[in-house]
Amino acid sequence: AIEIRGLRKSFGDNEVLSGIDFHVDAGEVVCVIGPSGSGKSTLLRCVNLLEEPSAGTVRVAGAEVTDPDIDIDAARRRIGMVFQSFNLFPHLTALGNVTIAQRKVLKRDRAEAERVARANLERVGLADKVAEYPGRLSGGQQQRVAIARALAMDPRVMLFDEPTSALDPELVGDVLGVMRELAEDGMTMLVVTHEMSFAREVADRVVFMDGGVVVEEGPPSRVLDDPEHERTRTFLARVL
Ligand code: ATP
Ligand code: MG
Repeated sequence: AIEIRGLRKSFGDNEVLSGIDFHVDAGEVVCVIGPSGSGKSTLLRCVNLLEEPSAGTVRVAGAEVTDPDIDIDAARRRIGMVFQSFNLFPHLTALGNVTIAQRKVLKRDRAEAERVARANLERVGLADKVAEYPGRLSGGQQQRVAIARALAMDPRVMLFDEPTSALDPELVGDVLGVMRELAEDGMTMLVVTHEMSFAREVADRVVFMDGGVVVEEGPPSRVLDDPEHERTRTFLARVL
C-alpha cells in the first residue's frame, strides 16, 4: 500500500505540491489525471524519492520512505517505476536489461537473475524477444521490457508515469493490456495516465489533480462521468 499525507514540494519559491493526501490500498489501482504542470510527475517522484518532499510523509508497504533515517536504496527497491521514456541500455539485450539490476542491486547470481528475467519477459508477452536489442524492438515492446525490468525486482508497488504517451497509437494497447493483467494479478499500482478508457475500466479510484492539490477523487464512474468540481469538468471536456 501507499499512504501520502500532507505532501508538499517546492522548487525554490514555486510550490508544486500543496498538501496532497491519498492512499492506494494493497492490490488497488489508482489513476491520477490532471492538466500538464499540475504536479503528477512530481508526486510520483516524491513517492520513490527521486525528489525530496518539502513536507509531509509517504509510506510504502508499511515503511515511511520520508523518514530521514531510512535506507533510501532499500526503500526504492520496494518500488517499481515505469516512465514515459523507457531508458533501456542499448548495448544490452532484453534479457540483459532485465537481469542487470537484479545482479547489481539484489546480488542474484546469473542463473537466478536470468530465470527471473525470462519469466517476467514471458509475463509481458516477449518470450520470443529475449535475445533482441532495444534498437530492434518497437516502442511498445521496449516499454514492456521496462515493465519486466521493474517486476524482476519484486516490487511491492508499481508507479507508472504516462507509460504510453510516447508510443504510436497502435502500440498503446499492448502496454495497457500488460498493465491490466498486472492489476488483475493484484499488483498495487499508482498510474499517471491520459488514457481515460484505461482509468475507467481498470482503476479502483481516480484522483484528479490540479494546481498541486487533489481536487477530487472517487470511483472512475463518479469522477469521470459525474464530477463534482468545475475544474474537473473543464479538464474532462478537453481530454474526453
Ligand atoms: P505533465 O502532464 O506535463 O507531465 P505534470 O503534472 O507531471 O505535467 P510536473 O512535471 O510534476 O507536472 O511539474 C509540475 C511543476 O513543477 C511544473 O511547473 C514544473 O515546471 C515544475 N518542476 C518539475 N520538476 C522541476 C524541477 N526539477 N525543478 C524546477 N521545477 C520543476
Ligand atoms: Mg508529468
